[in-house]
Amino acid sequence: MGLMRLLPRPNVRAHTTIEEKSLQRVIVFANQKGGVAKTTTTLNLAVAFKEQGFRVLVVDLDPQGNLTMSQGMNPDSLERSMFDVLVHRLPISEIIHTAEVDVAVSSIDLAGAELALSSMIGRERALEKALVEVRDSYDFIMIDTPPSLGLLTINAFVAATGVIVPVQCEYLSLRGLVQLENTLAMVRENLNADVKIEGILPTMFDRRTLHSREAVEILEESFGDLVFKTRIRKTVRYAEAPVKGQSVLKYDPSGTAAEGYRDLAKEVLDGAKPREHA
Ligand code: ADP
Ligand code: MG
Repeated sequence: MGLMRLLPRPNVRAHTTIEEKSLQRVIVFANQKGGVAKTTTTLNLAVAFKEQGFRVLVVDLDPQGNLTMSQGMNPDSLERSMFDVLVHRLPISEIIHTAEVDVAVSSIDLAGAELALSSMIGRERALEKALVEVRDSYDFIMIDTPPSLGLLTINAFVAATGVIVPVQCEYLSLRGLVQLENTLAMVRENLNADVKIEGILPTMFDRRTLHSREAVEILEESFGDLVFKTRIRKTVRYAEAPVKGQSVLKYDPSGTAAEGYRDLAKEVLDGAKPREHA
């Protein structure tokens, strides 16, 4: 159903309202499957960039508010959230909370945003417009999305310079990835010509199992160099950290779990270089 809404955008928006994209990168973490480590990757990669001195904003675009919670905030007690930004055009700066990184917070209200936006002109560009205000304040804007390809995720794709797709080595869904790429192709055609998949990230990788190794092989056969060399290992640290309201880089700074996302940060920054296969 989400795809049905991807009509060519109405020509009413003045082009001057949104300037040319700067060098700043807007990275979206998407996969319509839940539990693949979108939220974990958004937060921990953001903190890894911050460690390197970059200015980072994380946008929680999932009504479940997992990222907001994983930085120690309770989505139920937040008065205003991305819902107000997208639907009522509240300046995004008013709902940014500073934790380990700056977080534009989500709350359960956001579940109503798709419906509220669906009848608005420019409904696919609400997020892109909201980000104009803060664009010069950050080097990286990283957007966590819900497990669907609906209007919230489309808004993220329209605002994006690149998309990172976490995939769980345990349950590989190639059909899901094809569907995701089809949606991105429609966004490129109608809304954001430049958006591309920046990389596919194997997560919950257990190198002791044949199953995990085969999953990565299949990914590389299907997507070649799009697959990141970094594999995020399966470890309970990633589940422990959010309970403490912390990234894994803060919770266990010298552990292999933290190292995984520091490696990924290097790889994303080196994106232009050809990758060797592991
Ligand atoms: P999504 O946002 O795609 O739904 P999450 O980031 O919330 O996925 O991760 C789903 C669950 O898996 C969470 O409980 C999280 O703590 C856990 N998890 C994430 N990454 C890993 C990993 N590399 N190894 C083990 N568990 C992980
Ligand atoms: Mg999530």
